Amino acid sequence: MSASLVKACVFGNPIGQSKSPIIHSMFAAQFNLQLDYQKRLAPEHRFVQSATEFFADKQCIGANVTMPFKHDAFKWVDELSSQAERAGAVNTIIRKGEILIGDNTDGYGIVTDLQAHGVELSNAKLLLIGAGGAAKGALPALLDAGLKSVSVFNRSLEKAEALVDYTNSYAPRKTALYTHNDTAFDLVINATSLSLQAKLPDLPDSLFANNPAVYDMVYLSESTVFMQKATQLGCTNVIDGLGMLVNQAAHSFYLWFGKKPDCEPVYAYLRELNNPN
Ligand code: NDP
Repeated sequence: MSASLVKACVFGNPIGQSKSPIIHSMFAAQFNLQLDYQKRLAPEHRFVQSATEFFADKQCIGANVTMPFKHDAFKWVDELSSQAERAGAVNTIIRKGEILIGDNTDGYGIVTDLQAHGVELSNAKLLLIGAGGAAKGALPALLDAGLKSVSVFNRSLEKAEALVDYTNSYAPRKTALYTHNDTAFDLVINATSLSLQAKLPDLPDSLFANNPAVYDMVYLSESTVFMQKATQLGCTNVIDGLGMLVNQAAHSFYLWFGKKPDCEPVYAYLRELNNPN
């Protein structure tokens, strides 16, 4: 007998660019699951209405949430996981009976991808560039992985200060503002959208001096300008954000179905799709 159909979706605005339906269809096929996963364009300021309508259908087992609704979802769900609570944002909603639980799998996504690329997180010194939702969402899982310290750099100082204060409220004395005296990083993560504009953060080349692992959350068909710069300056482990995308989706899938999909074929397919040459 074939499994019954269940539904999930991703809410966002805009949403046309989302690769989540491709990813989750490929995961579902690995387990012969009947999953109808759609993109849902929620009107601005109307996340709650869209999500309420969606979950009124009992076949809907969960949802992903992307920009700009992760904070709305955080406020709307019935319960929060510890990851979501610390991230201050929800990217995954799970139906458990009558209850909707909000979780955040972005941190899992980046930690898993870093580990797959051989990056040692335990006792590592991290430079985190950016203080937006992606930076805040990734930090709880990165800190859980045992980082020694985090230095935060961001264009808007007040946002960097707010992120440092917030992070220290759940992981005391680990996180501070970046200063130009900070060097010898083991890991540099670019959590800004700068690479989408082919721009670099306003930081000295010396941050790459220690041959840190370098991660750009952005993924493009070719290396981002940030990745190119790191490579030119001698960094040997330079990674883009495609693996984070696939791994955060895999963890959402696990939270819905209790099954761990194989990310490798999905990653390879998306890499090919992104880079047809
Ligand atoms: P936000 O809008 O919340 O934050 C944007 C960040 O980029 C802020 O730190 C902002 O600085 C900085 N920034 C933007 N433009 C400039 C500029 N011209 N000069 C300097 N800094 C700039 O976005 P998110 O945090 O949600 O996302 C950031 C990036 O991460 C996006 O490009 C997104 O695609 C990527 N991402 C990738 C994921 C993946 O799975 N690979 C998952 C989530 C995000 P300021 O505070 O000063 O405005």
